[in-house]
Formats: sequence, C-alpha cells, structure tokens
Amino acid sequence: MNIGLVDIDSHNVPNLALMKISSYHKQRGDDVELCGPLFADQYDKVYASKIFRFSEMPKLPDGTIIGGSGYDLSSRLPEEMENQFPDYSLYNCDYAIGFTSRGCNRRCPFCIVPKKEGRFRVIGDIYNFWNGQSRLMLLDNSLNTDEIHFEKIAYQIIKNNIEVDFSQGLDIRHMTDSQAEILSHVKLWKRIHFAWDFMEIEKSVINGIEKLIKHIHPDNLTFYVLIGYNTTEYQDLHRVMVLKDKGVNPFVMPFNKHNPYQKRFARWVNHKAIFKSVSWAEYLHNHKTHNHDERTMTL
Ligand code: SF4
Repeated sequence: MNIGLVDIDSHNVPNLALMKISSYHKQRGDDVELCGPLFADQYDKVYASKIFRFSEMPKLPDGTIIGGSGYDLSSRLPEEMENQFPDYSLYNCDYAIGFTSRGCNRRCPFCIVPKKEGRFRVIGDIYNFWNGQSRLMLLDNSLNTDEIHFEKIAYQIIKNNIEVDFSQGLDIRHMTDSQAEILSHVKLWKRIHFAWDFMEIEKSVINGIEKLIKHIHPDNLTFYVLIGYNTTEYQDLHRVMVLKDKGVNPFVMPFNKHNPYQKRFARWVNHKAIFKSVSWAEYLHNHKTHNHDERTMTL
C-alpha cells in the first residue's frame, strides 16, 4: 500500500506523530512518504497532521485521516502507532525528538496543554525515541514537575553525553537545589528556558534563579516574559529589570503582536545589545524623536 503523509504546518520541525505513523506502516511493508496536499490523491491512504491553529487547512482527499492539536484537541494516535519508535528518515532528521511525560498540573488560561493532555504523568524515557543521536529535543511540557523522573531523564542524558534542548522549558516554580546541580552537568544544545508570565510568581522566580546561578552561568538561562495578557506596563518593566539584575536573559513574548506598545517593548528587550545599553525611557524617547524626524523629512 502507498501511504502519503501531509505535514500541514511545515517541514522545518519534524512532526512526531507522522514519524510514528511512518514506522507503523513501514513495519507492515507499506511504502511511505511525505507529500504535499496537492498530490495526496495519488496515495492509497493519506494521513495529515496540523499542530498549529494558525496554519491554513488545505484541501485534502476524502477519507484523509486528520489529527493534531491545530485540528482537534482530542485527537490521539491509536496505541499501536503512539508506541512506535519515530522514523527519523522521513525528515532526514539527525536528532532525536520525543516526550517522556505528558500534561501539566498548572492551568494557565492561555495554554492548550492542560485541555489537550490533562495532568502531568510520566509516559516513558529517552530510550523510547533516542538511538545514539548526539542531540535530543525533549518536548515535555513540564519535565521537572516530578523530581524523581527529572533526575532519571537528566542522568540518561548525562550518561550518554547528549546535547539537549528542553524545548518547552522547565518550570521555575519546581526548581530545587538538586535539580539545579544536576542541570549543571547536562550538555546544552540550547539555553534552558523558563517562563515568568504572572506577577504572583515573583518570589518563586527569584528563589529559582538563586538556586540555578549557584551552578549554572546566568547566560545559559532565558526567561520568557509574557506581556499584554494580565500585567501592566509597569509590571512588564519590573519583571525584565529584575531578570536583568540577576544576570539572566529576559525574552519578551507579546500576547498581541500587533499592539504598538507590546511590539516596541519586545523589540527593546529582545535586542540584547540595545537592552544592555539603553533604558526603556531612552528607547522610547529615541523612538519618538526618530518618528518625528521621519515625519519632518517627508513634509
Ligand atoms: S505551565 Fe506551561 S504547559 Fe503548564 S499550563 Fe502553564 S503554560 Fe501550559
């Protein structure tokens, strides 16, 4: 049987579900390949995956099996597919990718994880999807919720000398001295990142940073700072300045990318050279002067 797999979002980041479906069918002797939606009617069976809500839904042949959180939050792979080792050859992917846990115990109102996956639970370890690659992208949403599981996964990574990307970040509120110490032995593929979305967690953020920087250089720590959701402009400035004072990297995430204040504030913070050398007041002043000059020149 010829199997066509449609990755609706992009081919830049490998789609884990499609890689598992590919393994499942190849084991049964089927021919499997990625295909564009325009050519999908040439296959005996077609699967399509849509992870992001903003991706446009293409026209697909009748009978296409569609899944992914951008299509239906309740869609799941059947167990016999979910338990497959990913077929990395589908994307010529040279790193391992997967989950060792699912879900999250927090209830951030803007996040689909609790609705889609429910509460945190362990589902496996890196050997379910790693087979010798030098780099590993972990997709766990809140790996350090469970101290024992976190230690187990970190030791597997350290023992195998793998460079890791905790792609969904770690939860600063769960950070302990022991976790910080273990993290200092992990080879990092990308900086470790955390989130400081709500003002109420300031104390936990500061405590967590203090534990981390005893073991890890602050340059390796990034904090995503959500703005425009339920914080004031003063609170946005306060958070990025606290992070700057601690020596870690704030990275601003605007809730509304079209809002002029949010766009400007994100541009100021996320441009590291500017953020280090220019205050927010100076940045705003320069911006106003620049706009004024531009307007004057066009008159
Ligand atoms: S902590 Fe992260 S994964 Fe959990 S609900 Fe909040 S945003 Fe989602």
